[in-house]
Amino acid sequence: NLMEERRLSELKSDFINNMTHEFKTPISTISLAVEMAQEQLSHGLEPAEEPATRLTRYMGIIRDETRRLGTHVEKVLQMALLDRATAGKGAVKLMLSSVNIHDAIGNVLNTIGLQIEQKEGEVHLDFEAAEEIVEADELHLSNILYNLLDNAIKYCDKIPEIQIITLNKHKGIEISVKDNGKGIETSSQNMIFEKFFRVPSGNLHDVKGFGLGLFYVKNMIKLHRGKIALHSIPKVGTTFTIWFHTKEK
Ligand code: ADP
Repeated sequence: NLMEERRLSELKSDFINNMTHEFKTPISTISLAVEMAQEQLSHGLEPAEEPATRLTRYMGIIRDETRRLGTHVEKVLQMALLDRATAGKGAVKLMLSSVNIHDAIGNVLNTIGLQIEQKEGEVHLDFEAAEEIVEADELHLSNILYNLLDNAIKYCDKIPEIQIITLNKHKGIEISVKDNGKGIETSSQNMIFEKFFRVPSGNLHDVKGFGLGLFYVKNMIKLHRGKIALHSIPKVGTTFTIWFHTKEK
């Protein structure tokens, strides 16, 4: 229907604006840093100390921004894969193996640890599941956990306090990621898993994103025949609860 089409096209144009910004900013930052470094070099390395420190700083900027670009590219690639899967074309082939859920959580915490440290946040682990093996695609499972944790940190306007709880339930493992972030208004809650959707935040998004993470998460969990649920209270926090079958012995 027309309304629906119009809404989707608005979401798409927001997405393109976001995307343009997210790719262009690091690229122009990198070019600038390279230019500055070249200038520094062409002026020779006199006096001895200062230019080296400067060069190190430019290199650091180039490295960070390149990484950022790398994760953006990764996200877009994930989406392309997922699109094909949901359109039924050459479905995503899950590479299933036995994955220890607690190890998987630990690995993701290692990669995201720096972001948590930067915000001086804390993560509390409450691993209660004794059956801890799921049959899953390790890469996608990590991406799912990463997306949830990334959001828990990104959409938090205080010092992040994140709790991860695992439980065995209904022949499976339930994993809850609970944050003390800004929460999600009831009116947005049913749209949160839609492609490109981002909670409206006035005319300026202070937090960067594409509105793809939760869409990916939901579809990947579906492919795994798992479940996802959301509980959120504005200004208090959000809990995402996901569930996977445990591996049958
Ligand atoms: P992105 O983070 O790239 O915008 P997502 O699909 O991951 O995309 O999330 C969609 C929207 O849901 C976000 O823009 C944000 O408004 C909201 N959201 C997701 N996770 C949380 C959270 N833990 N706390 C508050 N809001 C959230």
